Amino acid sequence: MHLPLTVGSLIDHAERYHAGTDIVSVATAGGIERTDWGTVAAHARRLASALDGLGVARGARCATIAWNNRRHLEIYFGVGAGGRVTHTVNPRLTPDQIAFILGDAGAEVLFFDATFAPLVEKLAGRVPGLRHLVLMDGRDDDAAARIEGLAFYDELLARGDRGHDWPELAETEAAALCYTSGTTGAPKGVLYSHRAIVLHTLGGNQPDGLAIRARDTVMPVVPMFHVNAWGVPYIAAAVGARLVLPGPNLDGESLVRLIDGEKVTLALGVPTIWMGLLQALEKTGSKAETLQRTVVGGSALPPSMIAAFRDRYGTELIHAWGMTETTPLGTLNQLLQKHDDLPRDAKAALRQGQGRPPYGVELRLRDEFGAPVPHDGQSAGRLQIRGHWVAAGYHGQEGGALTADGWFDTGDIATLDPDGYMTIRDRAKDMIKSGGEWISTVELENIAAAHPRLATAAAIAARHPRWDERPVLIAVPRAGETPDEAEILSIYKGRVADWQVPDRVIFVDALPLGATGKVLKTVLRDTYGDCLMA
Ligand code: ADP
Repeated sequence: MHLPLTVGSLIDHAERYHAGTDIVSVATAGGIERTDWGTVAAHARRLASALDGLGVARGARCATIAWNNRRHLEIYFGVGAGGRVTHTVNPRLTPDQIAFILGDAGAEVLFFDATFAPLVEKLAGRVPGLRHLVLMDGRDDDAAARIEGLAFYDELLARGDRGHDWPELAETEAAALCYTSGTTGAPKGVLYSHRAIVLHTLGGNQPDGLAIRARDTVMPVVPMFHVNAWGVPYIAAAVGARLVLPGPNLDGESLVRLIDGEKVTLALGVPTIWMGLLQALEKTGSKAETLQRTVVGGSALPPSMIAAFRDRYGTELIHAWGMTETTPLGTLNQLLQKHDDLPRDAKAALRQGQGRPPYGVELRLRDEFGAPVPHDGQSAGRLQIRGHWVAAGYHGQEGGALTADGWFDTGDIATLDPDGYMTIRDRAKDMIKSGGEWISTVELENIAAAHPRLATAAAIAARHPRWDERPVLIAVPRAGETPDEAEILSIYKGRVADWQVPDRVIFVDALPLGATGKVLKTVLRDTYGDCLMA
């Protein structure tokens, strides 16, 4: 048989075999709502039917600015399975960036949570193609008075048919659209086909991948507005897992309450979130008894995090790497049988890396001129990827984004070992080139992070009259600490070559963070890039 690989087939499976499995959702206004896969599917059908009623055409972009909650989940499936494109927008971007993204995407519908009503008021009128603004809630007369033509999600749903059939779709049609987070340049749109999403669901969830099962209670803390919450909503539907959607409060204590109260077995998010969680666990005395695994990715893993989860809470941390352009799962870190007898330190070093590609993606390394770099675990090169869920180009941009022989260049600098274990050394745009030699900012930061008097630090390239670029460390002291430069620099002795030690340490109160919690090195370079030129 040939059946198309569609988002509709995922929610159909959850509806058919897991209708009674509950979905726990923290409402934007607070409080917990409980629904189940059967109701999510019925609401998704109603939504698709209601969008037909509004005359929203096949392929239309339906944007969301929303937290992780059950309405957002319904929209993922109702829009995608209904033949339209779920276009998630990151609310932490600036209003200008958001207006640009909505216009670039050609969004016709915008669903938003009450939190973002003030933002939407600012956007209204600035995005010409936007025809329908839908508040993800019941009727709210105050909001209706402030935003012209505002519709309400619950009313819209009531007008839809719960028995609505999904249209027949080709698997190559688009189902979702996300924009890169813009850490190193302007955000760019990536369209995901139904086929890419389904193959990512199957490939990313293999036993050495996310390995989510029907018995799991999964909490995606990674936002549904950030690369489809790493595909977790689709994977959860495909296996019928129980979902806990944490809503707007992503502080450590709120997450601990959900983990303990809802018996979460697997949680996924970026390192900054888990730093907050670890602090909250310590403070509240919770042992996170049910939490078997956490998946951490999106930016480099702080060195002590794996051990902190394992030793204090018996939780296995799985490090993962990916990008908007890779849907996003590219690698996941699980050990092989042959590693069982390795000493603890060697195992820890392997697990600290970003892991191996699952079936469905391939990795290789190239130098600046496109020549192969050996996969020996030592030689660093530009990381390139190809596979069933890797983007070939950007939405609305002419020409592809691939090399002449069909690979996507990630812009990351990495090593690969013969088993395919990948370690990110830096982002190409962040690397420091001093007198013709490369210095990894990640390596300098990892060493700084281990200093007991520093909370965090970022290394950047500063212009230098003789060496072109030299490393400078921008460091945030821990509360109440006032370390000096010499003391910080002394920790580099013997750990890196002398010429790799930063020329200066600049102490600041906080680092500038982008929309997905990554340090904005572009801003740091603009501010401190000339500090060695005086
Ligand atoms: P942006 O490129 O704008 O930050 P993405 O969210 O797509 O947007 O980020 C992808 C990038 O994030 C990767 O190319 C890589 O540099 C970084 N990244 C993702 N996961 C990890 C990880 N586990 N360790 C280090 N860097 C990571």
